[in-house]
Amino acid sequence: FDLSPANATCTTCPYCGTGCGVLAAPDGAGGLTIKGDPTHPANAGRLCSKGSALGETVASDGRLLTPQIDNRPASWDHALDLVASRFSETIAKHGPDSVAFYVSGQLLTEDYYVANKLIKGFLGTANIDTNSRLCMASTVAGHKRAFGTDTVPGTYEDLEQADLVVLVGSNLAWCHPVLYQRLAAAKATRPNMRVIAVDPRRTATTDLADMHLAINAGTDVALFNRLLSEIHEQGAVNAEFVTGHVTGFDAALDAASSTDVTVTGIPHAQLTEFLNLWIRSERVVTVFSQGVNQSDHGTDKVNAILNCHLATGRIGQPGMGPLSVTGQPNAMGGREVGGLANMLACHLDIENPEHRALVGGFWNAPNLPDHAGLKAVDMFRAVSEGRIKALWVMCTNPAVSLPQADFVRDAIANCDFTVVSDLTATTDTACLANVVLPATGWGEKDGTVTNSDRVISRQRAVLPKTGQSRHDWDIISDVARRMGWQDAFDYSTPAEIFREYAALSGLAAAQGKDFDISGLSDLTNSEYDALHPTRWPIPTRGTSGDRMFADGRFFTPSTRANMLALTQSSAPPAVRGTYRLNTGRIRDQWHTMTRTALSPRLNQHTGEPFLEIHPQDALAIGLKAADLTKVESRHGYAILRVLITDRVRPGAVFAPIHWTSEYASAGRICTVIPSATDPISGQPDTKAAQVSITPF
Ligand code: SF4
Repeated sequence: FDLSPANATCTTCPYCGTGCGVLAAPDGAGGLTIKGDPTHPANAGRLCSKGSALGETVASDGRLLTPQIDNRPASWDHALDLVASRFSETIAKHGPDSVAFYVSGQLLTEDYYVANKLIKGFLGTANIDTNSRLCMASTVAGHKRAFGTDTVPGTYEDLEQADLVVLVGSNLAWCHPVLYQRLAAAKATRPNMRVIAVDPRRTATTDLADMHLAINAGTDVALFNRLLSEIHEQGAVNAEFVTGHVTGFDAALDAASSTDVTVTGIPHAQLTEFLNLWIRSERVVTVFSQGVNQSDHGTDKVNAILNCHLATGRIGQPGMGPLSVTGQPNAMGGREVGGLANMLACHLDIENPEHRALVGGFWNAPNLPDHAGLKAVDMFRAVSEGRIKALWVMCTNPAVSLPQADFVRDAIANCDFTVVSDLTATTDTACLANVVLPATGWGEKDGTVTNSDRVISRQRAVLPKTGQSRHDWDIISDVARRMGWQDAFDYSTPAEIFREYAALSGLAAAQGKDFDISGLSDLTNSEYDALHPTRWPIPTRGTSGDRMFADGRFFTPSTRANMLALTQSSAPPAVRGTYRLNTGRIRDQWHTMTRTALSPRLNQHTGEPFLEIHPQDALAIGLKAADLTKVESRHGYAILRVLITDRVRPGAVFAPIHWTSEYASAGRICTVIPSATDPISGQPDTKAAQVSITPF
């Protein structure tokens, strides 16, 4: 197969937020031949195990081929008429806040934009939230508090230019493998470069690090507050930058100075070495991910990191700055289109009347709500309580992935009317739906995604649609037209949607917002088809964005960044006989395995759900290697295979999130996780459940 960029289809991997470019061509046997795209700036030809196995995951076996109503095949007309009428009737009877959409960071930007436009502009409620709430909502909130907007300052190139890279709560080697490969290659090329990993657990990533700070879980604020104090004590504050570009420094320093760093559990000598290395390395990048975000005080953790970069002025310059890496392929695109319940499109704010007027006017929308909608956990609580009576879930599986998954499953089962758009009708969530709509999947879809360093890439179709499946934007638009909004949803191509969205971004930028792709608002269809990966902002055609904040100006009214006064929250008392459960991803599976479980190669890595437990704890409980164990909280239980390892600490255990009822009858670990959330971001804390462990 000729997989040169000239002959293959250039598209983008549908898994993590690295956003690697992929070359794909049909292999003649129903699959695809896959190669990394050497021209894509994220990966320059590299792929990880998941990306390189994409060709094995596109078989039509098991796909839903026609719409279903109550588990029986139905025509599209019948199914969409039913969806439109049930949503209309529910709103007429119970008001707009009685309906909700729960969407996904796997949707393409165009899908996301249309879903957000329909519910916020026309159905009259902001009850749309996304599984990205589980991924990086705390980063969004932290960025907005510090910078005025949800802006990722740096780029991936900073990783290669840094003298020190600090990875906080990030198993980059398994969760963003190509970024890890870039980091490892940079370290090999520049032996003086240092990598520090901050993680309670030993992982494949900590193995690369020069120093592993095995921090006590949940004490990151104390660590970075101590760093801020030390920056001050060593005279390393960038006074010129702080004076000219920052507010809140004194209060942040006061709060930091009274923080007790011993709660981190990091030995004194190692802590001192870390502080000195951070302070003396001018080019520092702090990468952070779910270990920071998935916490009941994740937003404070984010701001504790940002505080240190702002105090030293190490932001907006080559090789330095905070860098959040998102879990999903289009979490960033979802943030940009306003796919979260508390945002409007193009980073505009739903609470701001001028922003609402701008978006409402642009969409000619009759019903823009004046208040935020329900965030994910609250949304399903409202479903359970009967306040939400019509729910549309797109491209995600909340009955497996949300905390208290049994509660969520029961809530969906009892909802008056549930629609699911997905590839199959066999997910835990789709099995509960009244209507299941066959959506196109990766390889068939066409649109754009934004990766973790603001690069917008095309995802292109390389295969025909399966069965009667339709694109998500097309399904949503059809329902909108059936509800009476023909003109506003008269789309026939994703290019039309993208042009409209790009034009709106220009108006947002005129209001002082960061997200501006208005330079792409006049792309012709063929120019959109040919669009190369491009980093925003793109205010004029032919430009490509670089690092943000290079001029020290932020998107606050004063143009200054905000440092926050932060205190380390105290951990809840441990319940005797329980263990602290950390959850995360494994190398070769993705989310709830809809696609990756189709690859024999990927399934070989880890065949079943497991629980990492320290040898000392296993002995105390009476567990031997490969025994089955019951992991339980008051919310539910899971049965997992024991993996005895000193990679976890005594008192702590780890389990992967991927297994569903389809692949392991009692493997849904999120059943045991309580639904505690960060009060600012609404992101659930999925790393601190207290669980009992017994032999099974
Ligand atoms: Fe796909 Fe992420 Fe792997 Fe790149 S690093 S190939 S985006 S899963």
